[in-house]
Amino acid sequence: MAISKELFDEMLAGGKLPSPTGVALRLIDLTRKDDVSIDEIARTMQADPALSGRVIKFSNMASNGPRRPVVSVPDAIQRAGLNIVRQLVLGFSVLGQNRSGICRGFDYSLFWSRCLATAVAANTLSLRMRISAADEAFTCGLLADVGSLALATVYPKEYSVVLDAMRDAVPAVRSESERREFRTDHCELGAAMVEDWKLPKPFVFAIERHENPDAAEVPHGSRDYLLLHMMSLAGAIGSYCMQSESERRAMVPALILDAAKVGLDADVLGASIDHIVAEWREWGNMLEVKTQDVAKFEQPAIRVTDTDDHDRTKPHKAALPMSILIADDDETIRLVLEQTLVQQGHKVAVAMNGREALKLALEVRPQLVISDWTMPELDGVKFCRALRDTEEGRKMYFMLLTGMAHDDELVEGFEAGVDDYVTKPFNPKVLTARLRAAERVIHMQEEIQRDSQSMRKFGTELAVANRRLQQAALTDSLTGLPNRRHLMERIEQEWALAKRTQRPFALMMIDIDSFKLINDNHGHETGDQVLIKVAALLRSSARVEDIVGRIGGEEFVVICPGGNLPMGVRLAERLRLSLAQQPIAVGDLSLAVTVSIGVSQQDVTTATMDEVLRRADAALYRAKREGRNRVSGLAASDGPTQAAN
Ligand code: GH3
Ligand code: MG
Ligand code: MG
Repeated sequence: MAISKELFDEMLAGGKLPSPTGVALRLIDLTRKDDVSIDEIARTMQADPALSGRVIKFSNMASNGPRRPVVSVPDAIQRAGLNIVRQLVLGFSVLGQNRSGICRGFDYSLFWSRCLATAVAANTLSLRMRISAADEAFTCGLLADVGSLALATVYPKEYSVVLDAMRDAVPAVRSESERREFRTDHCELGAAMVEDWKLPKPFVFAIERHENPDAAEVPHGSRDYLLLHMMSLAGAIGSYCMQSESERRAMVPALILDAAKVGLDADVLGASIDHIVAEWREWGNMLEVKTQDVAKFEQPAIRVTDTDDHDRTKPHKAALPMSILIADDDETIRLVLEQTLVQQGHKVAVAMNGREALKLALEVRPQLVISDWTMPELDGVKFCRALRDTEEGRKMYFMLLTGMAHDDELVEGFEAGVDDYVTKPFNPKVLTARLRAAERVIHMQEEIQRDSQSMRKFGTELAVANRRLQQAALTDSLTGLPNRRHLMERIEQEWALAKRTQRPFALMMIDIDSFKLINDNHGHETGDQVLIKVAALLRSSARVEDIVGRIGGEEFVVICPGGNLPMGVRLAERLRLSLAQQPIAVGDLSLAVTVSIGVSQQDVTTATMDEVLRRADAALYRAKREGRNRVSGLAASDGPTQAAN
């Protein structure tokens, strides 16, 4: 699903979509030019001191491991790279322009608070998971929900109505209602906007699908899969940061499961969240975005809250607020009860008779029901019995208020499914004590239901299993080396890094000579053993920092980070010799195995990643043509690569 081009163009032309302005706009235009110098960018950026400070802070944060801190704007740009600077400036500018607005139902301050938490979470998670440039993840997180902001900006009145009606709806239902009203939803629109702002493709995809990642058909364990689920987890952590203590606790099991999907176990998740909260608060201060105190992440464990605080002079505050339904036909009792409970921090709904109470109970799904016995329409005991006939109603804790306390009648009540009773006129102290007991039972039941211990164990096992799957998806099963998919991802990463840091890399394409003969003469099994041994030899002869993988059949690739063509050729020669100088032993056989190697280099003149691969391939072809068991290098200046094909 995507927004129609027509509609998006119409919205763009309307000029109301959030977009960067001023210094930010100038910077974004500048960073798009090929020949721009870092000094030029730095000069422009310094016109906005706040922005400069943020970019410096960012380039210090978004790196792994100890590094010399960056203190100047040019240094920060150098370290982060132009691409990242463009994205950051974009994110900060959209934030700066839209701190408030006219859509009544849209809480701008909460919105940015959550976006910032999501941004920091995306950054932290991607550093932990090492799956993508962490710095890009920050902007992607900050803008992940920009579609909602856009709807609020373009349709302030109409969107306010939608938001009011959808206050408690799950995102999918809200999206549906957005599509009915505006012909698009916040996910599609957000994705179209960031695509228009030239954010990398995988992030555009993640923004479009992160609210329902399981529905997206991407291969399990692929980079797209990890990125999407990482963004989805970041979004969930963003929401987690916004909640109250008790709501946060309820979110923990789902978070553990989401984290397991990207291979993070509960301990790592906990440590990450604590780190994210600290960074969120720091960023919040700097960007003047509201944040709140979030207690240290705790693993779920069965815990019975000790609410027996000894200070009885203060009104009792419930340790864990509950959702409570009161049913009584006596207005005074309703008012007193409601006031007492609200004061204690509970959320209260009120009904005037049994029938209304039953209807409300099934709508509101309270954790606790306090009901009078004698009421018109449906009395308390019948109300209780009716509730117990429903699946939801069976879970509620039911407390009966009664003036009649004869044993027989109480037995009738308990048989109907009542959990506890309080006699009228009630003594507030007794009621409070009974409430505490109810509170304990309810929360213990809920925690047991979540079965926290086994949940946590399950999450950890799932995380391990998923890590294995992800590993398997990237590993060649015969040789244990990185497979084609992994190699392509690594080349892509090296490509991005080289572009950013102007540090080239060399690439070798290695092909075993006349391998078919080995298969033909000694059988496929022997051929496989040779592949395994060649793989091991290549790995042990290459440098530690080189990436050695099997790209297909009897073909291998070596990526040499930081290497240029002459160095790549030297390394290739070393690999070739280490094979040529010793025969390979398979069982009783001793086989002479040689390889041909083509080498190329990424540098400023290579326009695309494919070109590096194509040129190595062409060099390999030349090595074969010139007699095999040799190395051939091809520089960009050697002319177009097609010539060799
Ligand atoms: P050249 O020197 O031109 O590279 O000759 P070659 O025989 O090595 O090249 P060719 O591409 O004709 O043959 C490659 C052979 O590798 C054919 C294919 O059956 C074999 N092969 C591919 N994958 C495997 C594998 O996993 N195991 C085994 N045993 N053989 C494989
Ligand atoms: Mg081949
Ligand atoms: Mg071959």
